[in-house]
Amino acid sequence: MTVLDGCAVHTVDAADTSYPVGHVVVADGVITAVGPGPAPVYPDAVVVNASGCLATPGLVNTHHHLYQWATRAVSVDDGLFSWLKTLYPIWAGISSEVVGAAARAGLARLALTGCTTSTDHHYVFPASGDDVLGATILAARDVGLRFHPTRGSMDLGESSGGLPPDSVVESLDSILAAVDSAVAKWHDPSPGSLLRIAAAPCSPFSVTRELMRESAAQARQLGIRLHTHLAETLDEDEFCREQFGMTPVEYLESVDWLGPDVWLAHGVHLSDADAAVLGRAGTGVAHCPSSNARLGSGIAPVPALLGADVPVGLGVDGAASQENGGLSDELRQTVFAARLRHGMPGLTARDVLRIATMGGARCLGRADEIGSLEVGKRADVALWRVDGPFHADIVDPVDALVYASPPPLARLYVEGRPLVIEDELQTVDVEAAGRDLRHAARVLAARAAG
Ligand code: ZN
Repeated sequence: MTVLDGCAVHTVDAADTSYPVGHVVVADGVITAVGPGPAPVYPDAVVVNASGCLATPGLVNTHHHLYQWATRAVSVDDGLFSWLKTLYPIWAGISSEVVGAAARAGLARLALTGCTTSTDHHYVFPASGDDVLGATILAARDVGLRFHPTRGSMDLGESSGGLPPDSVVESLDSILAAVDSAVAKWHDPSPGSLLRIAAAPCSPFSVTRELMRESAAQARQLGIRLHTHLAETLDEDEFCREQFGMTPVEYLESVDWLGPDVWLAHGVHLSDADAAVLGRAGTGVAHCPSSNARLGSGIAPVPALLGADVPVGLGVDGAASQENGGLSDELRQTVFAARLRHGMPGLTARDVLRIATMGGARCLGRADEIGSLEVGKRADVALWRVDGPFHADIVDPVDALVYASPPPLARLYVEGRPLVIEDELQTVDVEAAGRDLRHAARVLAARAAG
């Protein structure tokens, strides 16, 4: 049993309950008490003096491409389509060694920025059959995060009217077989699961309609979730109108992808009518404001999506389009992006903390288990130090977390296990991970140079 005592607590429960001074108690991976004032005395408990800290639910990252950590800052002045065309041939050279190193570095960065659950959208698979998905899963086990990797896919190459070169796409049959075997090998549907697989055809411009339809049917038969990129850029909107005679959301509906088991990356170019359609279906959106800014894609209409009851979570997106890769930084970015698009108040600090926690949990179908600090939920907790020189003057600790620089992380727990203590990752040697990443990036660049 671990007792976090004397901290401010922001629970993100349905009533948005906060305690200026309170406690959180965890035992056997589950939250057993949350409340105001000092914790009761428990014999044999490990007591953490958490005064000067803010306890929040661990942050949930709903969109990522971990392998992209090996190709940061390439094509930095291009928009999505030309950026992708530059990177596809480089990504064609990935191996499990490269992906494992990239994933370890990327997941370490996430843990050090308050993330307790991350997804990953992996959609480039080497022809050698090298197990790159397995490499991300082993990295997540090493770092200790709760992990929702997706078996992504592309089957629409350039010669058939798609964007990616034919060298990086697979056949429909081999994709469906790979999803089946990934689920059989890795998926754990049990309560408190640390690993769940989803299926994730990549985007309208890299995937056939047949694969979208077949993936939806397969996922529903297997009982797993569905993820894809949608409405990210105006180029994509144009592609859908030209190829299908539909908007991206109409296309999604036409391939049976509207449902509470689906979450979409980006959702930048969505109308109010689109938001209503997604809200009625319970289909979620992973909002990736830094990546959208880096690629000049636009700003997602998050207040309208929330107004339509669309589950909205935060995503850092792949580090090739968001070199920072930290999740806590996205809190401030989300508030600022909403205000740049919609004016005031746009979103508040409490709104964005809810998006980053419960919103993400809803996108991943885990709202009953994670995303808030409530008795019975899994013990995924971030403890932010807000009494230091750059935060202590701010009266409301949630404002300190969102508006100031991301605070030091005093503790990060996943299933009650401390992954981070005073900004030090306890599970993986970060310096060694950085060296491995540098080596992986060089190997990949050399392969691309031929
Ligand atoms: Zn993405």
